[in-house]
Amino acid sequence: MTPRKPAVPAEQEALPEPVAPREPAVPAAGRARAWHAELAWLPGLGVRGDVLIEAAGDRFTTVTSDVGRDIVPAGALRLPGLTLPGLANAHSHAFHRALRGVTQAGRGTFWTWRERMYEVAARLEPDSYLALATAVYAEMALAGITGVGEFHYLHHGQGGTAYGDPNEMGRALIEAARRAGIKITLLDTCYLSGGLTADGKAQPLAGPQLRFGDGDAAAWAIRADALGADEHGLLGPGARAGAAIHSVRAVPPDQMHPVVAWSHSIGAPLHVHLSEQQAENNACLAAYGRTPAEVLFDCGALGPRTSLVHATHLTGRDVRLLGESRCYVCFCPTTEADLADGIGPAGSLASAGCLLTVGSDSQAVVDLFEEARRVELGERLATQERGNFTAQSLARAATIDGHASLGWPDAGEIVAGALADLVTVALDTPRTAGTQAAAALESVIFAAAAADVRYVAVSGTDVVVDGQHLLVGDVPAALSAAVRAVLR
Ligand SMILES: [Zn+2]
Repeated sequence: MTPRKPAVPAEQEALPEPVAPREPAVPAAGRARAWHAELAWLPGLGVRGDVLIEAAGDRFTTVTSDVGRDIVPAGALRLPGLTLPGLANAHSHAFHRALRGVTQAGRGTFWTWRERMYEVAARLEPDSYLALATAVYAEMALAGITGVGEFHYLHHGQGGTAYGDPNEMGRALIEAARRAGIKITLLDTCYLSGGLTADGKAQPLAGPQLRFGDGDAAAWAIRADALGADEHGLLGPGARAGAAIHSVRAVPPDQMHPVVAWSHSIGAPLHVHLSEQQAENNACLAAYGRTPAEVLFDCGALGPRTSLVHATHLTGRDVRLLGESRCYVCFCPTTEADLADGIGPAGSLASAGCLLTVGSDSQAVVDLFEEARRVELGERLATQERGNFTAQSLARAATIDGHASLGWPDAGEIVAGALADLVTVALDTPRTAGTQAAAALESVIFAAAAADVRYVAVSGTDVVVDGQHLLVGDVPAALSAAVRAVLR
């Protein structure tokens, strides 16, 4: 392995200050506004034309189809193209964005990728992570993502020493989402052991992993409590708390209960990486005589607020346990392909009763249209049959079900009462030109790219207009500076 330069202490870094972030506008309570969508995808109705969408403050008030332009209220913003509810990125590790491209050079496995990821993790400090995450969340906003589930385990300073505020890194992520204008569920992750050996022994945390650990789950819960969530799990406007068990590799069964109990205490989502690699299953079977899904079931970790991320290598019994527990399953197909994980049994899971969601995970790309269509395309490759998931069901995964899995059941639909999140996709780009209105959703889900997003509103406030981020400004410059600061 090539020796690497030691990490430069954060105070010596020329921290990126690409653009002084503008303060997000807070919608005045009850402030009325209106949009007039050329086409909009509405729950139960499909794609409708000339849709007048009205809001007061951060929520929709009325949604009316077939409203001619001559009778639209003055001041309504015309939205040419197809307007969707806000997209939910149900699984993200913001800092992995720094590795885009870097880990594509040469060959390698999931495990060699993980070593590179640990090198970046070792360098981040609250200020540099704030800059990087702000830029990454701004990239997400440009892609139509209005809410992110950040699976956060980089808790402590070098060597595992807690910061003065032990939640300083988590608070940097919440601030980053605020600066980028999107909602966040901070999935605070319990991460206690460094993995299981092939013969099933738990390994202590070592090296960069020391920054992830709280010692035991009881200490994790004390730190998670100190985030200060209210009884509804809210951490502030647009931010809520969630819990995560990193995986059966990182949390022994006797340490899972405090995390599950904490999630119940505030009705929070509980997310877990599950069976991403066959090696994880083998080690889990050697250690506990059960599959990872069986371990989670036996520990009471499966339920309707639980999301299993990846769920790639499952037995028939695993699928039944997840389905009967009404879990969400989050597919991250571009990451799963990039890391050579395999193709998860999406069709079987959906048939068993799971709701599917999608995530950008390692940020190999940030494009939820691609993640969504790859759920269907992967299923086609695996089954040699077409038409397993409709565009509607894939769009649901990327919107309403994704938001609900992150604790925002009142987001992800264009309907009166819901949070006023909108994403408009242009239908005059090289990818989308020629779209017929009746097939607009199919065109967008199966052919559009993140670059086709022209307009984004989050909770009634404009965040992206004409493809430009209103708060961060030059997003590529912000990304470039933030990545350079942690890779050198
Ligand atoms: Zn992940």
